[in-house]
Amino acid sequence: VTPQRRVVAEVLDGEHVHLSAESVHLRSQQRLPEISLATVYNTLNELVAMGEVLEVSTGTGPKRYDPNVREHHHHIVCTTCGDVRDVHPGGAGGLQLDDADRAGFDVERVDIVFRGRCGTCRARTG
Ligand SMILES: [Zn+2]
Ligand SMILES: [Zn+2]
Repeated sequence: VTPQRRVVAEVLDGEHVHLSAESVHLRSQQRLPEISLATVYNTLNELVAMGEVLEVSTGTGPKRYDPNVREHHHHIVCTTCGDVRDVHPGGAGGLQLDDADRAGFDVERVDIVFRGRCGTCRARTG
């Protein structure tokens, strides 16, 4: 394991962590000042390919990187500040498409994004 990979893995640790590559870079530089954005991108791609980090598209803004690969989960995204949290909607694992809707697809994964204003943004603007 290279120092770069170790630092990126340390930055991507914790609950509800969904950082953009730029945020991973900023935080990594606090531990390893010479680390470049290109190295961070390469390292993130390696971690994704190894299955240690998930790539999350929230539909707005840059891709996020998520270390929570242990449990399948979905996301709730703040439409004001972009904060992303893990959610486990009841029954989502059992979402089914009937054969006509599936149109011959082999469904491998379901990603649901809930959107709305987070508690902090609601408190700020009332
Ligand atoms: Zn917010
Ligand atoms: Zn997540």
